[in-house]
Amino acid sequence: MWKKWKNLPLWAKIIAGMVAGIIWGLLAVIFEWTVFNQQWVKPFGTIFLNMLQMIAVPLIFVSLVKGMAGLTDIGKLSRIGLKTLGFFMASTVVAITVGLLIVNIMKPGHAFPDSRRAEMQEKYADPAGEKGTIAEQVTPDAPLDFLVEIVPQNVVDAASDNRNILQVIFFAILFGIAIALLPHEKVKVVKGFFDGMSEIIMKIVKIIMKIAPLGVFALLGTLIVEFTGDDIAESLDLFASLGLYMITTILGYIFMIFAVYPFVLKLFTPLTYRGFYKIISSVQMIAFSTSSSAATLPFSMNVVERDLGVSKTISSFVLPIGTTINMDGTSLYQAVGAVFIAQVFGFDLTIAQQLTIVLTATLASIGAPGIPGGGVVMLVIILTSVGLPAEGMAMLLALDRPLDMLRTVVNVTGDCTASTIIAKSENELVYPPVKEEPA
Ligand code: ASP
Repeated sequence: MWKKWKNLPLWAKIIAGMVAGIIWGLLAVIFEWTVFNQQWVKPFGTIFLNMLQMIAVPLIFVSLVKGMAGLTDIGKLSRIGLKTLGFFMASTVVAITVGLLIVNIMKPGHAFPDSRRAEMQEKYADPAGEKGTIAEQVTPDAPLDFLVEIVPQNVVDAASDNRNILQVIFFAILFGIAIALLPHEKVKVVKGFFDGMSEIIMKIVKIIMKIAPLGVFALLGTLIVEFTGDDIAESLDLFASLGLYMITTILGYIFMIFAVYPFVLKLFTPLTYRGFYKIISSVQMIAFSTSSSAATLPFSMNVVERDLGVSKTISSFVLPIGTTINMDGTSLYQAVGAVFIAQVFGFDLTIAQQLTIVLTATLASIGAPGIPGGGVVMLVIILTSVGLPAEGMAMLLALDRPLDMLRTVVNVTGDCTASTIIAKSENELVYPPVKEEPA
């Protein structure tokens, strides 16, 4: 039995963990094992999440420095940089446009019952207030504030908080460029150090991956227990009345996953979309279970390099940056959410307001941290930019988690697609990859 389990591929183990977690969660709700779950199951999910977050800063720093330092050709570096940013911007704008089109066609907010509206506003006034204050802290005051925020005053300080990942990336890129610019003789020791560090960190990632099935089991089980709480009937009621909004958002995600990404993959690479999704399915499952693209990063880097044959140079540049600034699922969700709230409150958004949504959702998805619920916090910025009541967000909070899980899948799929296409354009995609000896 143990031998059989050991020989299963990682994605199969993760699916087994997910299914077992869901079954466990349901049983725990039915038989009221919530306290047991809290004390004996939840900690394993937290440990798994912590381990992933623990490795994020070293992984990003070391792999970016190594990737940059390996580039002897600065022209190539700026070319990859431009392509990456161009692709991210384009895919984000496409995602928002898809969201706006779908929500304007489906008009989920118009189906909202009046009585329910008032009740919900009252009931969720508080949580929205809380998120509102967090959002106020991250709301940029001036248009260039988001650029200012990227440059840390203190590197150690930046590295001590996973929310400042963009600042770490900024320093790592600068550090890497400096190595690339200096004569090899002067920096060869440092380069060797980073090569060794990179090996060590990848090994740690592999070790963390081994406990992924247990981690997703505990995460999903606990999610079910906490989400359903003591009030199954009420959460079901809430789901039913907001179902159309969820369907609208999910349709947008489906369009991105089954139309947009396959289209660009077909256009630029030799991969079939089936082949591509088969390979990245384990990454998508981790994204789904953790709801965090930052936590998924170690997995995506590993899979993209090992199974898709993307070179280390490309993956270590595109993926860490993509994880933080390229969130197609999040921007789509924010666009749908904002228009939905406008519809619920009976506002008709003008074209100019919808364009403002495109702009702010692009910036907000760049600013959103790749953590569970990161996108919701930034939604307040969009609502205020078009003059919508921030309380409207209250309604979306209750259903955020399932949508968050799905949009994280879209986010990481976008990053994997970007790295594959950019690798292909740089002749750095070796597909099918040459397998290395198992470690
Ligand atoms: N959870 C998402 C992510 O990590 C961010 C969001 O809340 O939209 O990609």
